[in-house]
Amino acid sequence: MVDLKGQFSSIEKEVMERIQSVISTASFIQGQEVKSFETALADLGHVDFCISCANGTDALQLSLMALDLKPGDEVLVPAFTYIAPVEAIALLQLKPVFIDVDAETFNMDTDKIEAAITDRTKAIIVVHLYGQCAHMEKVLSLASLHGLYIIEDNAQSIESEYLLSNGLSIKAGTIGDIGTTSFFPSKNLGAYGDGGAVLTKDEKWAKTIRAMANHGQEEKYIHHTIGINSRLDSIQAAILNVKLKYLTLYTATRQRAAALYDEQLKGIAELQLPFRAPYSTHVFHQYTIKVTRRNELQQYLIGKGIASMIYYPFPAHLQPAYSYLNYKKGDFPMAENLCDQVLSLPIHSESNEEDISYICQTIRAFYQHG
Ligand SMILES: *Cc1c(COP(=O)(O)O)cnc(C)c1O
Repeated sequence: MVDLKGQFSSIEKEVMERIQSVISTASFIQGQEVKSFETALADLGHVDFCISCANGTDALQLSLMALDLKPGDEVLVPAFTYIAPVEAIALLQLKPVFIDVDAETFNMDTDKIEAAITDRTKAIIVVHLYGQCAHMEKVLSLASLHGLYIIEDNAQSIESEYLLSNGLSIKAGTIGDIGTTSFFPSKNLGAYGDGGAVLTKDEKWAKTIRAMANHGQEEKYIHHTIGINSRLDSIQAAILNVKLKYLTLYTATRQRAAALYDEQLKGIAELQLPFRAPYSTHVFHQYTIKVTRRNELQQYLIGKGIASMIYYPFPAHLQPAYSYLNYKKGDFPMAENLCDQVLSLPIHSESNEEDISYICQTIRAFYQHG
């Protein structure tokens, strides 16, 4: 699904030198590489504060911890998502309240938000799925109307831009109150291990989150709050500093690959191709199509040497761990429908025309002859 070896070979010398330099200075934790990466990422998002941490799930948990919510407070979250945001909510004794997703974008259906708001609703976690922003202007107006915090889970859409109706654009992850991201190796900006970060414009939250990620201490050995230990290490930061320089290039390659897929898969009646929302650019963390006869297609592709993945096979509200919330099948029809029909095709920073043509021809052949 991703070609991390291919990508490494093009930046090997630079990466190895940077890693070597971290080792020779023995500054493994909170070193200069971490500081400069945080500054670079804040600059990329045009915000003042970036706090790096151990992974994208911790970034979500730290963001929620900073909001000082009370047990039982409700947090809205899409039913069709990677599980991390739901887990962070539940671990903090908050209550996940699911929202169905939109048939075209597969992001949170903003028309369904209002009906889910109660007087316990305190925050909303928006997930910018697959590389494209959710409809944030609607989220922003509902949040301001009802006094809700907005956390953006931007693990999949780093560098994506939201286009406001006034013509200005703003980076995904910097639209709401707090944005989080992940540097899991297969993400658009991936480390060679785990990593994550939180972005915010708000100095107070930035300070709280930094303390929370460091055992709740602002001064050494004085713990004002109950924190956790969540750090990005210097070797990962060094790798990310190198890769950040190429992110725009990597994104462009993904976007070119997506355009090729669009062109070569169009007209196949059994497929729904990725929708391009007018209010967001798409960085194609995934190229995800909706298909009929998914299992058969996937098996056929495997037979032809083509990998594909299902992100995600089960909706959050039907996961066994969350059965205590008492949701049932049929509660979120679009999320359930997508879990049965989505299929993600290979797309990455090394995608090339030849591979994509082969994949598209194979899919076409399946539907013509199958
Ligand atoms: C990858 C991912 C995360 C979690 O990131 P980790 O670094 O693996 O903890 C959270 N949310 C979404 C949407 C993701 O894709």
